[in-house]
Amino acid sequence: MKVLVAVKWVIDFNVKVRVKSDSMGVETANVKMSMNPFDEIAVEEAVRLSEAGAATEVVAVSMGLPQCQETIRTALAMGADRGIAVVTEAELQPLAVAKLLATIVGREEPALVIMGKQAIDDDSNQTGQMLAALLGWSQGTFASALSLDDHAAEVTREIDGGLETVELSLPAVVTADLRLNTPRYASLPNIMKAKKKPIEVLTPEELGVDVTPRLQTLKIEEPPPRAAGVKLDSVAELVDRLRNEAKVI
Ligand code: AMP
Repeated sequence: MKVLVAVKWVIDFNVKVRVKSDSMGVETANVKMSMNPFDEIAVEEAVRLSEAGAATEVVAVSMGLPQCQETIRTALAMGADRGIAVVTEAELQPLAVAKLLATIVGREEPALVIMGKQAIDDDSNQTGQMLAALLGWSQGTFASALSLDDHAAEVTREIDGGLETVELSLPAVVTADLRLNTPRYASLPNIMKAKKKPIEVLTPEELGVDVTPRLQTLKIEEPPPRAAGVKLDSVAELVDRLRNEAKVI
């Protein structure tokens, strides 16, 4: 079975993000970019399915600026077989990404799409759900375990208060949560091999998808700085302050 993995190129999780002076976006010039961490987990899961013989081909898809191909190279170095980049200078919101992915799914006909539960730049947590809705496919979101047979996937989901196990008929969309696996580091030989793996480059126009943003950003602000903490002498004083100063109990 063919597996499609969506990988987003985002500001590296170690970088302290700075808001631009016009409050309309964040600084991305000269900032380290990497694969969205939940997408690394998605790639790892797809590669493990391939190594176990359950997946016949793993296709990594990324969308955005031309440099998003770097993140496809990382997926190829981790073990994906080939890549598809949808290149545009336009801002891509989750609905546009979901529509582009749905079109690629139409061309590639995978039995399974694995993606991250959330991109750490926009924190939307929408794209997987929108993709499943557009395709009319089953969805298993926040997966912390995944097993497959020819017709169905069993997904363990992290929900408030515990774990839920659902069976999905294939084809399906699965979104990866943190505990699904620990992604591998790409070895140097695999990074070299990845340079020879093919990446098809497309545009939204070629796919016939209108990516016009549906949401307008009004303002982006830094979070307020945290006030310094204080050391208290006793639990009684803590309770008193929580009750009378912070008024939270
Ligand atoms: P979001 O709904 O924006 O939080 O993103 C959820 C997941 O959708 C991400 O973890 C990726 O797997 C996928 N995704 C979102 N945007 C893109 C993009 N521009 N290119 C590839 N995959 C994306």
